[in-house]
Amino acid sequence: MKNKKVAIIGGGVTGLVAARNLAQEGFKVVIFEKNEAIGGLASSVSIEGEPIEAAYHHFFKTDQDLLSLINELGLSKKLEWFESSVSIFVQGKFWPFMSPRDLLNFSPCGFVDRIRTGLTALHLKKTKSWEQYRSLSALEWMTRKCGQSSADSIWGPLLKGKFGKDFSHISMAWLWARLHVRVNSRENQSAELLGYLNGGTRCFLEALSADLIKKGVVFRLGAKVEPFRQEGEQWGIATQDSVEERFDAVLVAAPDSVYHYLSQDCDQGSLASQKTKYLNAVCLLFSSEQELGEYYWNNINEANAPFLVFIKHTEMVPKERYGGKQVYYIGAYCDDRDVNWSETDELIKERWYHYLKHLFPDFDRSIISEEKLTRFSKAQHVVDASYHDSIPLHHPSDDGRFLYHFSQIYPEDRGVNYAVREGGKASNEISEYLK
Ligand SMILES: Cc1cc2nc3c(=O)[nH]c(=O)nc-3n(C[C@H](O)[C@H](O)[C@H](O)COP(=O)(O)OP(=O)(O)OC[C@H]3O[C@@H](n4cnc5c(N)ncnc54)[C@H](O)[C@@H]3O)c2cc1C
Repeated sequence: MKNKKVAIIGGGVTGLVAARNLAQEGFKVVIFEKNEAIGGLASSVSIEGEPIEAAYHHFFKTDQDLLSLINELGLSKKLEWFESSVSIFVQGKFWPFMSPRDLLNFSPCGFVDRIRTGLTALHLKKTKSWEQYRSLSALEWMTRKCGQSSADSIWGPLLKGKFGKDFSHISMAWLWARLHVRVNSRENQSAELLGYLNGGTRCFLEALSADLIKKGVVFRLGAKVEPFRQEGEQWGIATQDSVEERFDAVLVAAPDSVYHYLSQDCDQGSLASQKTKYLNAVCLLFSSEQELGEYYWNNINEANAPFLVFIKHTEMVPKERYGGKQVYYIGAYCDDRDVNWSETDELIKERWYHYLKHLFPDFDRSIISEEKLTRFSKAQHVVDASYHDSIPLHHPSDDGRFLYHFSQIYPEDRGVNYAVREGGKASNEISEYLK
């Protein structure tokens, strides 16, 4: 078994963690990543000379699989916990949204509906199982429980910003899980604590890849894999630039559409009915000496907003780390036809900065110090009320091909913690298959 070879398609956290475990067990592992760098959605860029995520990232106290791995990689001392602060922008102002008192003061929602919203949040917190919610529309359920004005000012915009046109079909199980993670990241009744690595995900990815290299894992970066070829009990994998190598098992740690594409020569259409619907994400990261706002996380709930969220990263992480500059993110989810995806970077920035002036009339684009716009294709799966019955399978056929990806995580939202967990599960299953 020691000479058995495993190919991993996708160098995101799921693929990297699976590779680590398999190499540890003595398998020969090769990672094929289409980009020039590893990390996928958690990949890192730099701003003001400091590493930072291309898309905003923080961790929760409940992220046990990730916290254990951080510890194993010797990075515990780099993990810092910060108090979170959240607001909602609606009716022309930022409303703090962290405590029951904030909810009571949130007048865009009618008074009775504020009370109903608080009671519903308490009820959901106490409800330990999500199964009862999986076929229910989150918007319909929340409207029934919290009232129309709560749906209009809180839940509708939140779901619309995250899931676009599909917002009214999203499963209540997803929203239940989202609220549970947030509530459990609070210690007793205190503020929510969010984790951040000093050095960002880059130090995590670097420590992980150093460990992989030590364990003999081979990286092929910038590797565009051709459809698989079955050779007896093995799988032949070639890239546009390299000759075919044979593997005893293949893990696709990328969207199910990649699995379908790579399997096209040998799959009999068994997965045809399981194609997942995804949205893209666009994130604009910028630094400036100008201070904008007072909350870390700001949901933008106005109907005409061109983006979902404005994040003041340096409300959480000290600005001294970025040469004294403030660091911000703007983020949006969109489908391929949305202007946030189809327009040029320059036009997207133009529109977003224009709207930022509506949020902060003093905002001065001319003093932005650095900016980076990153596009992530297939960054979020659409978890509608029937999703539970169409989650892609991990081992669609018993022939050495496996699929592990965030689209299989349910009902939780995808996250680095779950990527670590799924990478672990994938390696166990592959190891079992190869024995
Ligand atoms: C805007 C945004 C904010 C987020 N914020 C947080 C947060 O605060 N906290 C948190 O925990 N998580 C957050 N996440 C989620 C987190 O980043 C992901 O859940 C996690 O990184 C997913 O890892 P993965 O390996 O499953 O998938 P991915 O990161 O998508 O990795 C898949 C990899 O496969 C590669 N690939 C795809 N096709 C091919 C191919 N044909 N050949 C070779 N390689 C291929 C891709 O390039 C990619 O590297 C956020 C995500 C986004 C988009």
